[in-house]
Amino acid sequence: MSDARNRNPDLIAVDNSGGPLVDTFQRRITYLRLSVTDRCDLRCSYCMPERMQFLPKKEVLTLEELYELATGFIDRGVTKIRVTGGEPLVRRDIIDLFDALGRRLGNGLDELTLTTNATRLAQHAEALAQAGVRRVNVSLDTLDRETFTRLTRRDALPQVLDGIAAAREAGLKVKLNAVALKGINEHELPDLVAWAHRQGHDITLIEVMPLGEVEEDRLDHYLPLSVVRDRLDERWTLTDTDASTGGPARYADIAETGGRLGLITPLTNNFCAGCNRLRVTATGQLYPCLGGSERVDLRAALRSDQPQVNLEQALARAMAIKPERHHFRIDEPGADPAQPRHMSMTGG
Ligand code: SAM
Ligand code: SF4
Repeated sequence: MSDARNRNPDLIAVDNSGGPLVDTFQRRITYLRLSVTDRCDLRCSYCMPERMQFLPKKEVLTLEELYELATGFIDRGVTKIRVTGGEPLVRRDIIDLFDALGRRLGNGLDELTLTTNATRLAQHAEALAQAGVRRVNVSLDTLDRETFTRLTRRDALPQVLDGIAAAREAGLKVKLNAVALKGINEHELPDLVAWAHRQGHDITLIEVMPLGEVEEDRLDHYLPLSVVRDRLDERWTLTDTDASTGGPARYADIAETGGRLGLITPLTNNFCAGCNRLRVTATGQLYPCLGGSERVDLRAALRSDQPQVNLEQALARAMAIKPERHHFRIDEPGADPAQPRHMSMTGG
């Protein structure tokens, strides 16, 4: 592991002085999801196939390029950055990037966070906290070791639970994300919610989305959250709240557990009207919409003769093409994925 205290001299700021990023639907962009790798140490069956073809390293942005891009976005009004992947903590020296971006906290950046599967969180929790990370999203779909091993194709539940515990010890607030899957974890969801709340973690449930080819037909495991919600309503007293974390989740407080439940329903409910975000893949492709194919090549701009000028142009184009909404469909048996790219490209 790299020493989190050593500054990487190559990670230096660039000055981008354009105004705030606003799209053609007058949505102000303040949130960047930055994927730092397409690689992962798990193989969640709804996310990627066992024999996933990962990108050659030269196609992936260097840490210096990722930093340059991120600071460019901060200079254009992005106040929140979520580092994601693939699994961000499998990228070598990733703590250097957190350290460098952490120095922008209070100087344009309000929040630096990450989404992780937590297999390596125990090693990195302290360094992340030192870098200024305060909250971390951990993806955890089941507490049953066998189900975890079947679903992720790796026997790593103990490491994940250690990672969550280490994060809490380091003072990080943990939020859990779980994909609701028919016939896999659907009967366990109330227990998962109760466990999360007992541990003091918020938890958000997510509908499976048709992104990238996997071995299975996702329709087989698609579980509308309206069904989950009805079941939870039978068991507990849920009260909808207006709480927002700036994301697409809707929240309900559960009286009996004393905790908060988030529901992200990209398929049964559109969440696009208040969209304030952009996603950049590890190869520097900017996708203005998770469900759309529109993209802008920031890597080409970054590696060109005039990176500043070309980046500004690329961002202007991204604002021009950000669509009003996505058009996911999963309810046609055997349908092609809505987008051929996997979620591990754009991160969650
Ligand atoms: N590896 C990290 C993790 O799992 O937290 C970060 C990247 S992962 C792609 C981000 C999130 O996307 C995870 O919570 C995962 O469950 C979710 N995800 C992956 N594929 C999905 C799909 N097809 N539909 C819905 N969520 C998906
Ligand atoms: Fe890896 Fe995250 Fe995809 Fe699971 S969901 S395979 S942990 S990138």
